[in-house]
Amino acid sequence: MVNVGILGATGMVGQRFIELLANHPDFEVTALTASTRSAGKRYEDAVTWNLESKIPESIKDITVVETDPQQVKDVEIVFSALPSENAAVAEPKFAKAGMKVASNASAMRMEPDVPLVVPEVNPEHLDLIEIQQKKRGWDGFIVTNPNCSTIALVMTLKPLYDQFNIKRVYVSTMQAVSGAGYNGVPSMAIVDNLVPFIGEEEEKMETETLHLLGDFDGESVTDANFGVSTSCHRVAVLDGHTEAVFIEMQNDFEVDDVKQSFSDFKGLPQKLNLHSAPKNPVVIREEENRPQPRMDRMEGNGMAVSVGRIRKDDVFDKGLKYILVGHNTIRGAAGASILNAELINEIM
Ligand code: NAP
Repeated sequence: MVNVGILGATGMVGQRFIELLANHPDFEVTALTASTRSAGKRYEDAVTWNLESKIPESIKDITVVETDPQQVKDVEIVFSALPSENAAVAEPKFAKAGMKVASNASAMRMEPDVPLVVPEVNPEHLDLIEIQQKKRGWDGFIVTNPNCSTIALVMTLKPLYDQFNIKRVYVSTMQAVSGAGYNGVPSMAIVDNLVPFIGEEEEKMETETLHLLGDFDGESVTDANFGVSTSCHRVAVLDGHTEAVFIEMQNDFEVDDVKQSFSDFKGLPQKLNLHSAPKNPVVIREEENRPQPRMDRMEGNGMAVSVGRIRKDDVFDKGLKYILVGHNTIRGAAGASILNAELINEIM
């Protein structure tokens, strides 16, 4: 077993890490960190637990420590669910202290020597780890996963980009409140309402998508070169982001070819049969009113993206449109980091 720690273990994503790692065959949670508000308390006393599952017995009594590598002993991997500004300071310290950091936070994502990875999409970008360690003189390293709405989008774009080439993508998101953290969106702001703004989300989706589909030449990543335009909105759903996607392709296609491309799509995690890998990363719903967040977010244990209403869009030249749903705190956050760590554990 590999001993692992969770940074920001009391937050929305931190709780998902605990839930998903509870019965993991290779990873055992032995350290939990949070802010000074929580440090020194038993986990059960420090956390406002929000998940339907119970806090695992093995976790309740662990004492939460400050987010400082000196406080985290005998741990090989740390999963980071820290707010971005804290991650920017803490994550390099953990990597410098020799730990492998699998991060959800945006702080280090676009650093040229830090891999931003979705294992089904761009596992080859993990080769940046060696470059990062040499450049920074670290024994450990940092690997990141994209933000929640980007992960779901890019898992559906990858097979289409490879097969039909993409000219332009337009995306309109309907994002769950859990994506903003427990204190993120007050109930008075979201009940009976929709908030048509999520800070920095559109910029992240636009840059991260092109980076994930970019080419790695052994030294650096050259971003993919097509237009991505997004509009991001917060809706009164607890978990599960929905996205309306409109694509202008370079090559001709039929809707059946697109469906085949989605169904055939498998990546390295499926080939290696990694513990958290969904059997099918993209699952097609044929009903006229699916996918829906409440019905479809747990597809593939929350690790698959559901796609439906796949149809041609005649307003665009070679236009395609569809709706997708992905679980934002599982596939879009904790599950994504865990899959990154499983892949690293297997291949490095
Ligand atoms: P959250 O619910 O607000 O949790 C934040 C966590 O960080 C808590 O454990 C908190 O501990 C800890 N923390 C706060 N200030 C700290 C400090 N100064 N030093 C050390 N620890 C501190 O946030 P979240 O929604 O879980 O998000 C965590 C990260 O994941 C963010 O970077 C977010 O952007 C990213 N992310 C979230 C999602 C999502 O769907 N929620 C998806 C992708 C990525 P206390 O309890 O002690 O305050």
